[in-house]
Amino acid sequence: MSSQMVPTPSQPIVFMEHIQKTYWMGQQAFPALRDVSLSVAAGEYVAIIGPSGSGKSTTMHIMGCLDTPSAGLYQLDGYDVSKLSDDDLALLRNQKIGFVFQSFNLLSRTSAIENVELPMLYAGVPAKVRHQRAQDALVQVGLESRMHHKPNELSGGQQQRVAIARALVTHPALILADEPTGALDSQSTEEIMGLFQNLHDQGNAIVMVTHELDVAHHAHRIISFKDGVVQSDVPNPDFLRRPAPAAQQLEGGGY
Ligand code: ADP
Ligand code: MG
Repeated sequence: MSSQMVPTPSQPIVFMEHIQKTYWMGQQAFPALRDVSLSVAAGEYVAIIGPSGSGKSTTMHIMGCLDTPSAGLYQLDGYDVSKLSDDDLALLRNQKIGFVFQSFNLLSRTSAIENVELPMLYAGVPAKVRHQRAQDALVQVGLESRMHHKPNELSGGQQQRVAIARALVTHPALILADEPTGALDSQSTEEIMGLFQNLHDQGNAIVMVTHELDVAHHAHRIISFKDGVVQSDVPNPDFLRRPAPAAQQLEGGGY
């Protein structure tokens, strides 16, 4: 990474301030994001909810550096992304972010393990290390017996587990998931939510877009979008009510 890439110390992993995104269709401007300010601390688990068309995916694309805002500031882990060259931005994205999409986005003619190796191929990790890490990631998501299967030989839930292994294999600080359970049955949804919970327990920040309130309620904080703005941004009351197992163990159950 070039020497100009100096991060601002102790910034949250995601910091968005007055973000706007306008799409142009001919002469017609469409404001998909009108004024979005939000931040996500390292290790936090956040759900984004809101009606279709409210700007959730647009926000995720900007967060993931797949798209740029029309106005406003976006800092990823302290780096102002508008100041980075394309190469530095690609490198930062590859190091910091893992993506999980509703439609899995796996390469169809490629085995599970080769799919998981891909982000490391782009990052220039040697083949042997790549293979070992991909294997470990697939074990972590419970797919040790399916490593050499192609996507069409796997169920939807299994394909999403491959996609999660691909997202976590680079040890990203931030995992972005846009409707990751939108194409899955309820049993697979539960399994996938369990995996996200594990990732969160290991210290990854997670931002997840979801339609399903059941899914949103796994998160610590729920941000609700409407018409291209943040309508509310509140701690998840269910989560606050639940006892924190780690804290209980450490402190003998006392708060
Ligand atoms: P959500 O994910 O909440 O359903 P999106 O962020 O995908 O919403 O879209 C927000 C709005 O921006 C929608 O009205 C959508 O039609 C519009 N939009 C999204 N992408 C584009 C695009 N590439 N060109 C034009 N309009 C777009
Ligand atoms: Mg969307």
